[in-house]
Amino acid sequence: MAQCMGPGCGRQLPRASTTGRPREYCSERCRSRWRRLRQRVREGREAPLRRWEDGAEHRHLLMVHAYEVAEAARRLAAGVTADSQDPPEVVPGLARRPRLSDEPAGHTRAAAEVLAAAQQLAAAAVAADRAAGASWGAVGRALGVSADTAARRYG
Ligand SMILES: [Zn+2]
Repeated sequence: MAQCMGPGCGRQLPRASTTGRPREYCSERCRSRWRRLRQRVREGREAPLRRWEDGAEHRHLLMVHAYEVAEAARRLAAGVTADSQDPPEVVPGLARRPRLSDEPAGHTRAAAEVLAAAQQLAAAAVAADRAAGASWGAVGRALGVSADTAARRYG
């Protein structure tokens, strides 16, 4: 069962109905807390990773970036789905939702967002594992590179 994405909330969410988008927040309050946290991370206003010694903070940022990746991937999937629905549903008086294929290289742009978010996620994951005591050798093995390369890349 899914948990609320509200920072520090962790409430179990009721099972999603068979139709529509699954719920991500237990409340409007949790939704806006999550939005604000994401904005702070994006603007670099959350404490820089390196200064955080506490493992809980590393895991917290790891969670933020994991959700970022999931969200970017969901936007891409939604865009591809909209592209494949043909003909587009046009409501009179309402502008049609833009499609990825309306934009030159729109799919690539959306995929690049997923990649950028995944790179931040990888950095946060390494920091969390390092904070939990993983050696550069162990991190390197997980990445398929040497300990030196891992340390150069993420140290
Ligand atoms: Zn909540």
